[in-house]
Amino acid sequence: MTKFKSLGLNDTLLQAITDLGFETPSEVQEKTIPILLEKDTDLVALAQTGTGKTAAFGFPMLQKIDIKSRTTQGLILSPTRELCLQITNEMKNYGKHEKGLNVVAIYGGASISDQARAIKKGAQVIVATPGRMKDMISRNMIDISKIEYCVLDEADEMLNMGFYEDITEILSYSPGDKSTWLFSATMPREVATIAKKFMHNPVEVTVGSANVGSSQVSHEYYLVNARDRYSALKRLADAQPDIFSVVFCRTKRDTQKVAEQLIQDGYNAGAIHGDLSQNQRDMVMRSFRNRQIQMLVATDVAARGIDVDDITHVINYQLPDEIETYTHRSGRTGRAGKTGISMVIVSKSEVRKISSIEKKIQKKFEKKDIPSGDQICEVQLYHLANNIAKTEINHEIDIHLPKLNEVLEDFSKEELIKKFFSVEFTRFNNYYKKSKDLNVEGRRSNYEEDQKDSTRYFINIGAKDDFDWMTMKDFLKDLLNLGKDDVYKVDVKDSFSFFNTDDKHQELVLSVFSEFQLEGRRVSVEISKDKGRDGRSGGRGRGGRDRGRGGDRSRSGGGDRRRGDHDRGDKGERDRGSSDRGGFKKRSGGFGDDKPKFSGKRRGRSDKPDSKGTGGKRRRRV
Ligand code: ADP
Ligand code: MG
Repeated sequence: MTKFKSLGLNDTLLQAITDLGFETPSEVQEKTIPILLEKDTDLVALAQTGTGKTAAFGFPMLQKIDIKSRTTQGLILSPTRELCLQITNEMKNYGKHEKGLNVVAIYGGASISDQARAIKKGAQVIVATPGRMKDMISRNMIDISKIEYCVLDEADEMLNMGFYEDITEILSYSPGDKSTWLFSATMPREVATIAKKFMHNPVEVTVGSANVGSSQVSHEYYLVNARDRYSALKRLADAQPDIFSVVFCRTKRDTQKVAEQLIQDGYNAGAIHGDLSQNQRDMVMRSFRNRQIQMLVATDVAARGIDVDDITHVINYQLPDEIETYTHRSGRTGRAGKTGISMVIVSKSEVRKISSIEKKIQKKFEKKDIPSGDQICEVQLYHLANNIAKTEINHEIDIHLPKLNEVLEDFSKEELIKKFFSVEFTRFNNYYKKSKDLNVEGRRSNYEEDQKDSTRYFINIGAKDDFDWMTMKDFLKDLLNLGKDDVYKVDVKDSFSFFNTDDKHQELVLSVFSEFQLEGRRVSVEISKDKGRDGRSGGRGRGGRDRGRGGDRSRSGGGDRRRGDHDRGDKGERDRGSSDRGGFKKRSGGFGDDKPKFSGKRRGRSDKPDSKGTGGKRRRRV
């Protein structure tokens, strides 16, 4: 206590500290509290999660603001609803002996008018998530023109979640001479950039070793044929029985589809995307957080709200259109000092993007092979053996022992082991024994080489015929009966468009379009001399669409991520019955969206461990 006193805190706050049972200040508190109390300065503090950062800014803020005034003097921005509520709660505890203190939480997914009313009563301190905050400022429900202290808590996370623009806009409504205190667990370049942009000569405090960005994440890519994407995903999961992952798809439809397929194949999977209600999303997130879901299939927008520690793998089922998005995806793993792996399943036509990503993230990818059936069987057997070794004996079995012994008495230990493992092994082995090698030969070809085997076409339909690049791509691949990655670099202009296929499809394309009509109009295709620009394949259009904001709602759904209350493996292993409760099957669309004519071909190729879908059992504990 004397230690807290020596930091310069006043008696009412010291009383609260006693009530809370804090005995000695943590390092970050010891280093920041005296500085913040003493002068009005900007500050950047880097310290790992769980080091007591909330109190490090909370106490000084409470001591410095004027409780007698009703003006909003302090603003704390935090990335998620859960953190926002947590900080609000802490602030209330710290200030519980300060008569008249009003701390208000502002976050998405709850009534905006209730929050506006709470603000109207006069809140000296507002704790907010950026999305809702921006919304309420623009509706004149909140005035932050007189704030003196602004905290950016978990700044790295806020940026990871794509809140940069929201923060910039919010701060544009605040006075220039306020003090800004930035707290972060890591110091990636982006955080350094906002520190530079929003702060004047900040004092820097570092506790422990600040790590640079997500250096804990290693990056891997797997080159497969586009049609083997799903099988590859399954193998990656099968080779990691303890996987706890987010699987990213590009569209809501693919997200739903992949999740449904995984559930059908017996995995503990769930989907999260913008077509689910807030309620459904909360449910899915709850199942994910308590490990009932091991593979959360997500769109980029929906995943912004995912703040779950201990995610072991991020799987890029498809690469995002924007490289920037890749950084956000891979940042879901390797958090709070843990290591993580970001995997990319990539087809030949897009493998060149790997190099662009490497350039952007300043890290090398490792090219790895999709594990073979044999390797997977081996992993699964060892996993089972380990589980057996770890399993506590249930003595309720004892009364059955005599009978069990009788049945098995003729077998040696060795034979018993063989028999026991054969039960599990056979299913996997049957499934995988005829499985082929999914890896595609090929180096990461560069752009020029790529161009050699590719044909670019001009087609006389475009945006004014109601196409965007995605619908155009779908239209072409369906019409030509080609795979998803066989038509690329689709670029839709107003009255015409361009697209590419590999040279080998040239004949097909030209013959299909030799006499094709769309709504009575002749649609013609010609080979274009322009080979098409690199990479983007019309990504702009989609990027724009995907970036559409659903307000704060799409980002909420996280949980208390630092308290370690999710005990890994404890409740994680359920059969698929439990995943059904997550509510992901309830949405309309999904498979039904597909015209059977075009999708039948793919669906037939389903690649599951056994036809009855009992694969889920394999995740059952022994
Ligand atoms: P961070 O923001 O750095 O992740 P928090 O501020 O959420 O960490 O603090 C983590 C936990 O430690 C909280 O439960 C908080 O109440 C507790 N705590 C903070 N400071 C102290 C202290 N000086 N002594 C004991 N517990 C503390
Ligand atoms: Mg914190």
